[in-house]
Amino acid sequence: MNPTREQDNPFLIVQEQLYDAVTRMGLPESVYETLKHPQRVLSVSIPVHMDDGSVKTFLGYRSQHTDVLGPTKGGIRFHPDVTIDEVKALSMWMTFKCGVVSLPYGGGKGGVVCDPKRLSPGELERLSRGYAKAIAGFIGPDRDIPAPDVYTNAQIMAWMMDEYNNAHGGVNQPGVITGKPLVLGGSLGRDTATAQGCVFTMRETAVQMDISLDKATAVIQGFGNAGSHVARLLAELGVSIVAVSDSRGAIHDSNGLDVDGLLEYKADTGSVLGFGEAEEITQGDLLTLPCDFLVPAALENQITEDNAAAVKARVIAEAANGPTTPKADKILAERGIVVIPDILANAGGVVVSYYEWVQNLSRFYWSAEEVHAKLEAQMVEAFQKTWAIRERHGDVNLRTAAYMVSLERITEALRLRGRI
Ligand code: GLU
Repeated sequence: MNPTREQDNPFLIVQEQLYDAVTRMGLPESVYETLKHPQRVLSVSIPVHMDDGSVKTFLGYRSQHTDVLGPTKGGIRFHPDVTIDEVKALSMWMTFKCGVVSLPYGGGKGGVVCDPKRLSPGELERLSRGYAKAIAGFIGPDRDIPAPDVYTNAQIMAWMMDEYNNAHGGVNQPGVITGKPLVLGGSLGRDTATAQGCVFTMRETAVQMDISLDKATAVIQGFGNAGSHVARLLAELGVSIVAVSDSRGAIHDSNGLDVDGLLEYKADTGSVLGFGEAEEITQGDLLTLPCDFLVPAALENQITEDNAAAVKARVIAEAANGPTTPKADKILAERGIVVIPDILANAGGVVVSYYEWVQNLSRFYWSAEEVHAKLEAQMVEAFQKTWAIRERHGDVNLRTAAYMVSLERITEALRLRGRI
């Protein structure tokens, strides 16, 4: 997202969140100094042959935040609003996300400034391969392992894996990238993992807050890989989905939307707009509807100082990365609204990416049941550790608590390597 205000720059936001947690934990200043910038940021230009015969150059980035706990890990975003600061911030959030769920990774993230909705399939393939070729010397199963993010998918991962392998003399190394199609070494359960992990954390929060899921309501912003699966999984638990949005607009039905019908409708028409009897509302109104759970599953900076006072949800589950600004966080905390932070709520995606990488390295593949059970155990454990810190300290929100869980491991690793 293009920050319009200095305080909405995601890079400054993650630095502020990190600083707050380091200070709260009484850690040495050197922890902040070591982690406040990514270790390496690569900037590339990708000339692409367009269908009309012209050549167009796209800009791309790859940020590797820290290798202290292992290779760096994180998705690649294709979006017109990608900036270098956004990619750096997203790579840092990946470090803290991997830390909360105890994965042996640091954070990475990539981005290409483009509008994939305006590219033909051939142009998209050439751009994906061009980007993978440009970063091929900097990634690898023991270095930095990309994955899908906003507007990238399994097919794009397949092209990138192929390009990496070609660039390395024709090796067959599926573990260089995750989120691949099953036949090329993908993992069962990876496509729904972000949503499934998010729903596990929502279920655990509901237990702590005495919310009955079969009487609860949810509002979901974004109907992509995360949002659409969150809607379906919540509906399966009996939650009534009263409003959803996508990049084109938002719809509302206080009696609850028919989620299966909506999924089919979106697949046919490309949007949620115009579905059944639902009324059209604005994106702004969606965020302030009364509900038990609000799930931002789109982009950064959606809940800000401008609308946080009007949010009427009891719980916000951040399926997106960075949807809430620090100023909004303070307002929400004062109002008693519980925020399940992105680095915990959406960690299910990278957890199953980790399982995919392990399966690739061992060339031994797991059943869907095995993936599901392991993901559940790992998410519930991370949630409980985070919730316990919040209970113990009383004055920290779940975001700071999650940073604290993460920073404990990272600080120990930094110390043992002699970096702080
Ligand atoms: N892009 C996802 C995220 O932000 C997944 C990253 C991964 O699987 O490596 O968490």
